Amino acid sequence: MSEKHIQCEDETLIIAIDGPAASGKSTTARLVADKLGYMYIDTGAMYRAVTLKTIRRFGAQYTEEDVAALLPETHIELRREDNHSAHTSIKVFLDDEEVTSDIRSQEVSAEVSRVSAIPRVRERLVALQREMSKNERVVLDGRDIGTVVFPHADVKVYLVASIEERARRRQKELQDQSAATLNASIDDLAARLATRDRFDSTRDHSPLSCAPDALRLDTTNMTIECQVEAVLELASQGIKKI
Ligand code: C5P
Repeated sequence: MSEKHIQCEDETLIIAIDGPAASGKSTTARLVADKLGYMYIDTGAMYRAVTLKTIRRFGAQYTEEDVAALLPETHIELRREDNHSAHTSIKVFLDDEEVTSDIRSQEVSAEVSRVSAIPRVRERLVALQREMSKNERVVLDGRDIGTVVFPHADVKVYLVASIEERARRRQKELQDQSAATLNASIDDLAARLATRDRFDSTRDHSPLSCAPDALRLDTTNMTIECQVEAVLELASQGIKKI
């Protein structure tokens, strides 16, 4: 661990950050991981990678069986790019092809909740997330980290923000990426986010929910810096609720 990394008082190992779409999870998780010198695992990227493969193979016409059959031949990797910049960037590889931006397409975003609700997809990716975290200090962000993947995580945070603010953040993100959906209005984006949240929180298998022992943080009026500080503060207290 280099000197720039903040030392926690105890051996905090797993930091779980959950919440609805565009609530600031991935930016917060990445910055917290950078500060602490922990590994960062973007679990949403893993569900998106399986969705991209599904769409490429079957279009929108697929069954649970079709997707399950893809899993044994699917290899997902999150590679850390050490590009000497202030922040770490993560590249996503699907069967050895870099798909970091492809998995953010509108097609994938529209389909990912449906693929993620398939129990065999979840079983496979949860097992992979646990395997990747073995003997590591990790920050993971997703929907079910504090409830299912690591119910005994050392630190659990659940980020929320108003739908308008989340749509604004998503619009800015798309503009920064010069994405094709540049013209999407705030109302359009808010409707898409709300649909995905509804699907994610009402599915049978590990729905999006706040773990009872998670710190619930409303980030509507918080800057990213404040969100990161709040999580670091929690981590430095070494809070462990079992
Ligand atoms: O975090 P992101 O918005 O990229 O996640 C995309 C989708 O992946 C979510 O809307 C959800 O359907 C699924 N997901 C999930 N469980 C996770 C992470 C993401 O079901 N742990």
